[in-house]
Formats: sequence, C-alpha cells, structure tokens
Amino acid sequence: MTTQTLPAPLPLEGWTHIYSGKVRDLYVPVGETAEASPYLLVVASNRVSAFDFVLEPPIPGKGALLTALSNWWFSEIDMPNHLASGEDVPEIPAEVADRAVVSRRLEMYPIECVVRGALTGSGYKEYLETGAVCGIELPAGLTDGDLLDEPIYTPAYKAPFGEHDENITYERSVEIVGEDVASALREASLDIFTSARELAAARGVVLADTKFEFGRDPRTGELVLADEVLTSDSSRYWDAAVYADASLTGADRLSSFDKQIVRNWLAANWDKQGTPPELPTEIVSQTHDRYRELYVRVTENDPHNA
Ligand code: ATP
Ligand code: MG
Repeated sequence: MTTQTLPAPLPLEGWTHIYSGKVRDLYVPVGETAEASPYLLVVASNRVSAFDFVLEPPIPGKGALLTALSNWWFSEIDMPNHLASGEDVPEIPAEVADRAVVSRRLEMYPIECVVRGALTGSGYKEYLETGAVCGIELPAGLTDGDLLDEPIYTPAYKAPFGEHDENITYERSVEIVGEDVASALREASLDIFTSARELAAARGVVLADTKFEFGRDPRTGELVLADEVLTSDSSRYWDAAVYADASLTGADRLSSFDKQIVRNWLAANWDKQGTPPELPTEIVSQTHDRYRELYVRVTENDPHNA
C-alpha cells in the first residue's frame, strides 16, 4: 500500500483537479463534477513509478513523450478512442499543451486488459510456479523473454486506490463485467496488440506486452479505448536487434525502452523497505533517452524538445 503524498497538482485555469494517480493528474472543467462531466483533462506528469512507488527525481520530458506516443498509437488503431473532438471541446491549457489530452469521460471497466506476446516479468514468475499465466497453460521449458506462439490475454482486476492490481482469469473477468463486455475486451485487446506488434517489429522493436484500459461512453453506450495506449509506461518494448543477438542473455538481451531500467536499478539498490533512494542522474538520463528513442523509432516523428 502506497502512503506517499504526491506533489500538489498544478492549478489550471478553467479546470478543477479531481484526482492524481501515480503518474497522471485528472481535471474536469470548472463547474463540472467527476461523476457527470462530459470531458476529462488527462495530464501526464514527468513522475516515474516502480514497485508502486513514485520515485524522485522526475524524468524530464517523460510526460510529453508518453502523451505524443499514446496519441500517435490512437491515430493508428482502428477502434473508437477517448480523445475528444468537436467544437464544444474545451482547449488544453497552454502550460500543459504538450503533455495533456482532453478525453471523453467514460465509465471505466475495472479491468486492466493485459496482453503478453512474450513471457517475462510477473507472467514468467507465475509460469515458473504454476506452468500457467492467469489460468492459461503454457508449454513446458519456456525461459525468461521467450516469445509466445500466440499472444495471450491475461487480465488484472484494477484495485481501488492504493491497493495492488490482482491477476485474474478470464472467467473471473466475466463475473466482474459480464460475458459480453469481457469477451469484447479480450477480443479488442488481442486485435490491437497483434497489429501493434507487427508495426513495432517493422520499426525494429519487439512489443513484449502491454496493458489497455477501456470504458463505456455513458452517452452512446459505445466501448471505447481509453487511458494511455502502448506507451513505455504501459508496455514492455525491447530492441529487436539486441533481442536477436544470441551471444546475449538475461537483462542484456531484453534491452528495454521502458521503465525496466528504473526497476533494475531499484532492485539492485533498494531492499524495498522504507522510502526508495533517489535515482542517480545517469539512470534519469538513460531512461529519458530510451523513452525518446522509442518514440522516434516507432513513430518516425521528431520529438521536438522532449
Ligand atoms: P495508479 O497508476 O497510481 O495505480 P491510476 O492508474 O488510477 O493509479 P493514472 O494512470 O496516473 O493512475 O491515472 C489515470 C486514471 O484515469 C486511471 O484511473 C484511468 O483508469 C482513468 N482514465 C483514463 N482515461 C479515462 C477516461 N476517458 N474516462 C475516465 N477515466 C479515465
Ligand atoms: Mg494507470
């Protein structure tokens, strides 16, 4: 359970702050409420979290890079998404223009829709203990980082604030959101992952796994892709050339464009008791550089000053 206090939210004219997650700050237009507002301003901070702790210092440019990457993926993915468009949509305040989006406020499903195209991290740990991940049996003898023949859908229950998310079976997700929604979430997640993985591969990047969140638009009833998509916070990305290098093993081979750099450093330098140590300058700059490189590789766009 996290007991950290987050920095005071930035005051933004015309917007009321309603919630801060570990990484993002949410606002609604002044006069609206969190429950009824049609719109939501989602501001990505430069905060970085690992093992459920927000770390110091922040990573410069992170909020802008992740917002730009997520927006790019939204434009590539053939499914309704939460980005608001139209004449009535309030403008993004200038101070956060490069790291915020105005979205339709959705009724979010409390399921983290995780798709794994490779076995690593908590999935690998579960596999070592049980031979399965979230109830899906896998062939024997797989090792850390192995690609799976078919991507698997391994949902997690999105725990209320401050608690850890919990891996669940697909059947459990049916109990939580009902059969129709559960199967729609699974199908959309696997479809998006499969196309995204192909696109990433063409740009020299292995998309190992990711997490999507979906919601229901209360006005139209439509299923909508929300939150951030395919960013280096919500996904694991490896360098394909390094991954293919047979002379490398372990962490050297799974050279990541995500916050694994931060996790690895923390795991080696902290016993997970009390407050985590400050990240050294070189870890901050390496993380920034990798986030930036991923953005450039995947989108082939210029990240400007981020
Ligand atoms: P933490 O990551 O600290 O455990 P969190 O996931 O709640 O908590 P963030 O990811 O920083 O924190 O905040 C984003 C929040 O906004 C999430 O709870 C997400 O489900 C929610 N969200 C994203 N898009 C929408 C949307 N279109 N409508 C309503 N809520 C949304
Ligand atoms: Mg989140």
